[in-house]
Amino acid sequence: MDVDGVLTDGKLYHLVDKKGELVELKGVDTQDGLGLVWLATHGVKTGVISGRSSEGLAARAKMLRMSYIVQGQVEKVASWERILREAGLREDQAAFIGDDLPDLPLIKRAGFGVAVANARPELKKAARFVTKARGGDGALREVAELILKAQGSWGAIARGCGA
Ligand SMILES: [Mg+2]
Repeated sequence: MDVDGVLTDGKLYHLVDKKGELVELKGVDTQDGLGLVWLATHGVKTGVISGRSSEGLAARAKMLRMSYIVQGQVEKVASWERILREAGLREDQAAFIGDDLPDLPLIKRAGFGVAVANARPELKKAARFVTKARGGDGALREVAELILKAQGSWGAIARGCGA
């Protein structure tokens, strides 16, 4: 998945610390986070390919048990191909979730290309699925539940929580 606008709501809050260094804050969603952890614990490898770089993202990706963390790559196709090789998967066995034009090639190439509700129109047109929720506000939880339901894992998760 992409990060800004997908894992986050796309907003960056820029503060300056006492040394005058830029501190960047991003907004994430805890329900999205739990959905991603459930994917990881049920055998679905997850990861991010981001055009920007952030230590906070690296820490969050680890917390969410992601298998692949690629940052500072605006051109995402090479990273996508490398991740698939490492995972031993074909493109049609992988999903990609994005919001903006750099994500379009991967939305088209992935077996399950997903655009979030706040994605640019070109992505929504090319995607197999468009989430009802916006990035950083439930979009990833929506996709996580869809995949876990399709793979038959969701019932046990929900029952385990008393649902
Ligand atoms: Mg983005």
